[in-house]
Parts: sequence; structure tokens; C-alpha cells
Amino acid sequence: MGPLISALVQLQSIELDLTNLRRRKRVKDNAVNAQQAKINQHTEQLESVRANSMERRKRSDELDLDLRASEEHVEKLRVDLNSAKTNKEYATLLTQINSLRADNAKVEDEGLKVIAEIEALKQQITELEALIAEEGKKLTIVQDSSKDEIAKLDTMIADLTVKRDDSAGKIPPKSLAIFDRIASNYDGEAMAQVEVSGRKQPYSYSCGGCYMSLNAEHANALKSHDAIRQCDNCKRILYMDETA
Ligand SMILES: [Zn+2]
Repeated sequence: MGPLISALVQLQSIELDLTNLRRRKRVKDNAVNAQQAKINQHTEQLESVRANSMERRKRSDELDLDLRASEEHVEKLRVDLNSAKTNKEYATLLTQINSLRADNAKVEDEGLKVIAEIEALKQQITELEALIAEEGKKLTIVQDSSKDEIAKLDTMIADLTVKRDDSAGKIPPKSLAIFDRIASNYDGEAMAQVEVSGRKQPYSYSCGGCYMSLNAEHANALKSHDAIRQCDNCKRILYMDETA
């Protein structure tokens, strides 16, 4: 293996370690984020229940006012009733009073219903507040347990990134650009080892990345030239393990 291909193999090894560390960090971050998302969802729900409760309270106040005004009206009509001069006047007032009382009974019924709704919403608010407090405690636990691990992973990622940059610096820019492009397509796995099978010539070759068979020309060229050759199928950069 020439200096270019062996530098690429070294870079690939660092790149895979980095990908692995980033994945481990993502798992930790996700645990924290998932718990936070749960809390956000309950908080949104709480806000909606609170808004509903506020609206119901407003309705309850409106009904109270309506009822009071209507009762005052009834009181006034009763005074008029006592001083009615004709039977007709008396009958008309009585009809008005009865009609108003029937309306008031309806308003009272709705008022009672609204008060029951407010009570139920109050209960929901208490329950949601307790739930949010409990989930908040869990979030603290998840954050605390993840904090050290995340800090450790961050340090490892920073150290390895320095190594990666150092290793990448040894590779000509054009070759590095090819490596980076393929690495980004395959989670850091830019290289594939050429797999050799068969006991004697002619051997058959396949790509260790995508398992498609490879032309013997690739293997022969890799043995004699220190240059980038890519799998025809997956485009990974090929290398041969010469000890095999
Ligand atoms: Zn391939």
C-alpha cells in the first residue's frame, strides 16, 4: 500500500471513530430533548386548559350579571303588578313576569353547568401542574446523568477532530475532496477493502462496502499504483489489505 492509500486508510479509521462518538453523543442529546419535548407538550396543554378556564369564568360572570339585571326587572314588574289598574294590565304583567322567570331559570341552569365546568378545569390544571413538576424532576435527572457523559464525548470528539485534521493535512486536496464527499454519503465510511476469494488464480474480487463483484483490473492497479480507484457501484475508495 503506497503513502496516499495508507494515509486515506488512516483517515478513514479516525473518521469512523468520530462518527461513532457523534452517534453516542446524539443518543445522549436525544434523551434530554425527548424529556424536554414531553414537558413542552404538557405545558402547551396546560396553557390551553387555562385559557378555556378563563373563558368559562368570563361566561359565568356574564350570566351572573344577566341574571341580576333580569331579577331586578322582575322586582320592578311585581311592584307594577300590585298597582295594576285593570285586569288586562294585570294579566299582561303576570305573563311578562312568568316569561322572565322561565328565562332566569334557564340562565341559572347554564350558570350551574359553567361552574361545574370550571371546577373540572381547575382539577385538570392541578393535575397538569403536578405532572409538569414531576417530569421536570425527571428532566433534571436525565440532564445530570447525561452531562458528564456529554462533556466526556465532547472532549473525545475535539481531540479526535485535531487528529483527523492532522491526518487530512497529509492528503492532497483533490484526493481529500473525493474522500470527504464519499464519507458524507456513507457515515464516514469512504473506503472499502477489496475482498479476494478463490484459492488460486484467477481470483475473484468484490467490494467490501457494497459486496458487488469487482473487475480484476482494480486489484491489479491497486497493487502497482498508489492512486485512488473507486468501486464502480458504490464509489467507495478501494484499498487492498496486502497481508491477506
Ligand atoms: Zn462498492
